[in-house]
Amino acid sequence: MESQKRHPRTYSFEFFPPKTAEGAEKLRETRRQLEALQPKFFSVTFGAGGSTRDRTLDTVLEIQRAGFEAAPHLSCVGSTRRDIAEILAQYRAAGIRHIVALRGDLPSGAMGVGELRYANELVAFIRETTGDWFHVEVACYPEFHPQAKSPRDDLGNFKRKVDAGANAAITQYFYNADAYFRFVDDCERLGITIPIVPGIMPIGNFSQLARFSDACGAEIPRWIRLKLQACADDVESIRAFGLDVVTDLCRRLLDAGAPGLHFYTMNQAGPTTEIWKRLGL
Ligand code: FAD
Repeated sequence: MESQKRHPRTYSFEFFPPKTAEGAEKLRETRRQLEALQPKFFSVTFGAGGSTRDRTLDTVLEIQRAGFEAAPHLSCVGSTRRDIAEILAQYRAAGIRHIVALRGDLPSGAMGVGELRYANELVAFIRETTGDWFHVEVACYPEFHPQAKSPRDDLGNFKRKVDAGANAAITQYFYNADAYFRFVDDCERLGITIPIVPGIMPIGNFSQLARFSDACGAEIPRWIRLKLQACADDVESIRAFGLDVVTDLCRRLLDAGAPGLHFYTMNQAGPTTEIWKRLGL
């Protein structure tokens, strides 16, 4: 963890772009509540293949107009170099200087991988076309990406993104702090010293979390899964247990020297704010 302790801590909150006017209003309210916590930036996800292109841009611009740093996510799968260059030019013209560069996942059965196959190629493209304009974040996986051939291969692929010019990384969420500590140590041995900020998923709804976790390869430890299952539909118990578990995880990560936290807010202010308060941040 030594390389991580040298970085200043950054705290950030992730949103997805709302689909309806009602969702947009709800997100505005969420953002106002989270602004009080003074995050370094808000990030906004991007639907693979460009499906949320305009909504991601609108959400990012609104955050920026409110006086906060906004980091759009950009995924390359299913897009051409020209599409990506256009999106980068839009962000640049709007004065956005921070981006989260991903490969993305196309829905199964969707056609066309696109011209850039992996996130390292996207990072290289961003650097080729826009130089140092953007602060580029990438994703990484302490419990390894589900499509990786092996843990070693996945680490090597993460290194490609760093070598292509990534400035920092945000992890997939996890509930096992040791997986993160080991991952960071393995990265250090490969010479990766950029900030690796843990991605934090508050626990709210067990079936939704189980579905997400199956798809993205994040493990819900047996003891957490069984306790949540035992709560059944008792929303209050799930909430209370989830807050305890995730606050303890965050505390362990920060005590060991993690360079901040990135919250997957799911467009809700409540759980993130409560964890924040309990951590005394
Ligand atoms: P990559 O780094 O390209 O890796 C994908 C897989 O390919 C891995 O298994 C890797 O080991 C392997 N690989 C990588 N490079 C090579 C190579 N050169 N040769 C062979 N194999 C290689 N998805 C969205 O659609 N929109 C979002 O906004 C979004 N935001 C995210 C934010 C964070 C912080 C995280 C952790 C994930 C996010 N995702 C998002 C999900 C992400 O797109 C998926 O996890 C996707 O499957 C992988 O994206 P990646 O950028 O990590 O891909």
